[in-house]
Amino acid sequence: MNVANNISESALQLRDVPCDYCGSREADPVMRGPDRFCGLPGEFHVVACRQCGLLRTNPQPTVETLGAAYPNAYSPHRAEVAPPQPPQGLLRWALVNYRGYPSGEPASSVVRFFARPWAALKLRNRKYVGYLDYAGDGRLLDFGCGIGRYVARMAAAGWKAEGIDLVPEAVAAGRKAGLIIHQDTLPGASLPTDYYDLVTLWHALEHVPSPKATLEAIRPLLRPGGRLAVVCPLSDSLAARWFAAAWYGLDLPRHLTHFTRATLRRHLEAAGFAVEQTQCIRRPTFVNRSYEYLAQDTGSALHRWLGRSHAAARLFSHLALALHRTDEMLFIARQKM
Ligand SMILES: [Zn+2]
Repeated sequence: MNVANNISESALQLRDVPCDYCGSREADPVMRGPDRFCGLPGEFHVVACRQCGLLRTNPQPTVETLGAAYPNAYSPHRAEVAPPQPPQGLLRWALVNYRGYPSGEPASSVVRFFARPWAALKLRNRKYVGYLDYAGDGRLLDFGCGIGRYVARMAAAGWKAEGIDLVPEAVAAGRKAGLIIHQDTLPGASLPTDYYDLVTLWHALEHVPSPKATLEAIRPLLRPGGRLAVVCPLSDSLAARWFAAAWYGLDLPRHLTHFTRATLRRHLEAAGFAVEQTQCIRRPTFVNRSYEYLAQDTGSALHRWLGRSHAAARLFSHLALALHRTDEMLFIARQKM
């Protein structure tokens, strides 16, 4: 199967799909909305599985025409990969001393002891959330890597980083920048088993037709003790509840599954992973963009202003953080033994 070949030729077709978690077709409508990001025609529906509560877009794009949901305007597949910059200065020092990165000599244990609180603060900055603990031989696979920005950053930081993505233009851009990118998907790709120390999915799991099948295909690729890192928009976040169909994280019809904290954890566990760690991630831009979408619906000058106010977005995102209801959360999981 090569969805990517059909990108330009086929128009989007929709079909009813069962729940990815429990297989039930019984569902209740939750909300509907247009494609606000790329402007594809039509209206799309989100439903909740009546058996298990998982939210999904239904009907959703067929696997054969899924590529049509990503027109050329879809920004993550465009642009060029900037030449990778290795971490510098204090960030590099913190990564070497507290995250096991191979790019320098660790400091003495006394220095590390006293600098620990400061380094923890530095590494908690959401800009650095992608610098996960270095492990094993540093073999990293980024699933749904797009043009490979993250792959490039991690390769520069010392990982043996590879990416996998279906979209030919994105893969070509990544390869042009000298990155190892597989043009394929999971399940489907033949990649080495018992090989990777870390597999990452940044905004990828909500895009695949069956998150369960993707996670199950990833599991054997990891070495024993290897880790999985997942970030996706969470539909039980404060902003998702507040903005409902105008929430930026909804991204219909490209987001096929709409996870909450509970349903994401459940999906990971069902695929053979045990969640070890979670971290809330503030996304002020989600708040601004959601107000922009809301302003399109209401025509309100206040909503337009809130769409531009960075202070208001920061305030909102800090409130979400205090409530543990941020737009995104990093889940780190290991294979269950
Ligand atoms: Zn279900």
